[in-house]
Amino acid sequence: MSDSDGKKTLGVRSGGGRPGQVKQSFSHGRTKNVVVETKRKRVVVPKPGTGKSGSGGHAGDPSRRPGGISDTEMERRMRALKAAKANEAAEAQRRADEEKQREETRRRRREEIEAKEREQREREEAAKAKAEAEERKRKEAEEAKKHAAAEKAAPKAAPAAAAAQPAADQPVRGGGKPTPRKTDRERDDDRNNRNNRGGRNDNRRSGKLTVNQALTGGEGGRQRSMAAMKRKQERIRQKAMGGAESREKIVRDVQVPETIVVSELANRMAERVADVVKELMKMGMMVTQNQSIDQDTAELIVEEFGHKIVRVSDADVEDVIDSVEDKAEDLTGRPPVVTIMGHVDHGKTSLLDAIRNAKVVAGEAGGITQHIGAYQVTTDSGTTLSFLDTPGHAAFTSMRARGAQVTDIVVLVVAADDAVMPQTIEAIAHAKAAEVPMIVAINKCDKPEANPDKVRTDLLQHEVIVEKMSGEVQDVEVSAITGKGLDELLESIALQAEILELKANPTRAASGAVIEAKLDVGRGPVATVLVQNGTLRQGDIFVVGEQWGKVRALINDKGDRVKEAGPSVPVEVLGLNGTPEAGDVLNVVEAEAQAREIAEYRADAAKEKRAAAGAATTLEQLMAKAKEDENVAELPILVKADVQGSAEAIVQAMEKIGNNEVRVRVLHAGVGAITETDVGLAEASGAPVFGFNVRANAPARNAANQKGVEIRYYSVIYDLVDDVKAAASGLLSAEVRENFIGYAEIKEVFKVTGVGKVAGCLVTEGVARRSAGVRLLRDNVVIHEGTLKTLKRFKDEVAEVQSGQECGMAFENYDDIRPADVIEIFEREEVQRTLD
Ligand code: GDP
Repeated sequence: MSDSDGKKTLGVRSGGGRPGQVKQSFSHGRTKNVVVETKRKRVVVPKPGTGKSGSGGHAGDPSRRPGGISDTEMERRMRALKAAKANEAAEAQRRADEEKQREETRRRRREEIEAKEREQREREEAAKAKAEAEERKRKEAEEAKKHAAAEKAAPKAAPAAAAAQPAADQPVRGGGKPTPRKTDRERDDDRNNRNNRGGRNDNRRSGKLTVNQALTGGEGGRQRSMAAMKRKQERIRQKAMGGAESREKIVRDVQVPETIVVSELANRMAERVADVVKELMKMGMMVTQNQSIDQDTAELIVEEFGHKIVRVSDADVEDVIDSVEDKAEDLTGRPPVVTIMGHVDHGKTSLLDAIRNAKVVAGEAGGITQHIGAYQVTTDSGTTLSFLDTPGHAAFTSMRARGAQVTDIVVLVVAADDAVMPQTIEAIAHAKAAEVPMIVAINKCDKPEANPDKVRTDLLQHEVIVEKMSGEVQDVEVSAITGKGLDELLESIALQAEILELKANPTRAASGAVIEAKLDVGRGPVATVLVQNGTLRQGDIFVVGEQWGKVRALINDKGDRVKEAGPSVPVEVLGLNGTPEAGDVLNVVEAEAQAREIAEYRADAAKEKRAAAGAATTLEQLMAKAKEDENVAELPILVKADVQGSAEAIVQAMEKIGNNEVRVRVLHAGVGAITETDVGLAEASGAPVFGFNVRANAPARNAANQKGVEIRYYSVIYDLVDDVKAAASGLLSAEVRENFIGYAEIKEVFKVTGVGKVAGCLVTEGVARRSAGVRLLRDNVVIHEGTLKTLKRFKDEVAEVQSGQECGMAFENYDDIRPADVIEIFEREEVQRTLD
């Protein structure tokens, strides 16, 4: 009772004191219904039951009590009568109670009905107020919930009054029982109709109740059911929509690469981006339109929108590059491409020059040869050979690493006066790895100390068995200086080439490899390309590495402009949009758009790769740095050069600079003008930029000025190297050299007021100098190091005291001096060191 009273205070409107709904009013005319019947019911209903049985029990008790004593019979009768009366009274009381309870129940019912009517009215009001639709929804949900709770509570009271319960009360009670739901509901309906209480609304309510009952009024259950219904509605709506769409929809073949940006996918499907994002969200992927999704996810989406996926690999853009196998009948012989390898100073360059000079007919192109990174010679027997003019293993392997297997034959140069050396072994390994046949050129055979057989036997250890040792590897004794054996070497190469049966199809679109590339001031980017298959012609559109272009001009190794270049012919190619790198593969394609697309794709891919590698390097570098940080100073630099060869040479030279204290770190070395990107990179690392035969473009110059990045230009590698050495030397901490200048021995220690302890000394060696550093040694152990506060000769402060003289000395901030201690006097000088 007190509970419901407590609630009553909440009820402002009519019937507040009764169970059922009360209406709370808020500002702005908002209302809210609060159910107050629940607890009251619970409190009220059990009371008559328990109260009644309780009072019944009590009524019985007095009947057993003795009423008075006249005679026993009388007494017995009286007692019986009294008991009967008491029983009667108790019965009457019980009936009255029951009646009262029934009345109470009826009243409650009425109230309930009233409450329902009220509630209904309110609902109707709310329904009229369309603007408050949202609010109403919430309210209804709340009502339903409360009702469920109320109905759930009701059955608890049922047993007490079940027998006397009028049929009219049945529905609500019945409503509490979950099982005979349907019949209850029917009965509800009947009754509602009979009672003429707006059956439609009541139906709705009871319907709601039923649902709630079925779900035992659990809130979660209710919410689930609501959500389910919503989902169902949504499904139906979408189905309807989808159906409508599919009727007009064009099913597209959607090309999806390995990853695709959501907006691009939407674009390709011709769907709205928002719809695609929504669909992804439904799949549990929270992505924005600018994020990428993988191919599998994209497939689900594409299918969801009713399109067909066409999976493409990113690299598919390269498919336009003609990769058709050549037919046997199209193939014709081609010259071999030869690379000369060997240990440093064994004569690679000399040999290349010798071959070239021997074979370049005087007068041809004025006898002036042009180094374009490769050249062709014709042997006496008429075989043409192409030599790569870029000796060095790095070039060979970096080309191989880029997938450009250019070399057909390796000439391994071994100096007869030196035999097999580390780089010889390396060269053998490279040739073997590339499965390229070798020819051994035993060089410097003109030298008196030459021992070609030592070379042959040495080579055995590395599984190179030359013909003279009954092996299969051709060996030729040559001299780059005298020209001895050169023809023989060329014939050996020609023979080897014959064995290889090198063939190519000159009729197809050209493909080739970049031997060298540079940025030419007058001609723009220039690449020396060794055509490997097909024929490269002026006007051809091509893609080369991350660059593309249209052949503006072709220039051969003799400096002549040519119209075309067939297999194994090295030519300079003009008309590139940028500078490619050595080892990049050139492919002729049909259209400019294709070339551009491929180049862009490659550039993007390379960028990602670089970014990944950059991150990795940084981490590695950080780790390495952390280890060595304390004692190794680093001079970071950035190198841009006109040709790949120069860049590599500079990098190599840079690597040699430095010792265990200072190091030059080449952040980046590339070909071409110094760009803003270079300046940005340099700025980030506090590095200067070195341009070798290249200049910074205008934006880079501006950026450098702004950011304070130093750009230096060079045209001689040694100048550059010297400057870097000087800069690196600046990083070496100046060496501090200590010069011993004298010893003094303490004879006595005085105490001088205002000065402290003063040592009476004899300079035993060298000089004592006021400005010098001093150490106090006691039994040859340094116990203090500092400076002098005073140096006195007799009473005078002096700058210097010579050996053999006595003096007074006092230390700055140090007093623990004793007789027999030795004072060491020294001076320090800083020596600037240089790298060498
Ligand atoms: P690379 O480092 O292998 O290119 O060797 P180089 O071609 O620069 O030659 C190194 C040195 O060996 C040079 O001083 C050449 O003059 C010398 N040299 C090269 N070939 C011969 C040769 O056949 N006979 C003699 N006597 N010296 C040679």
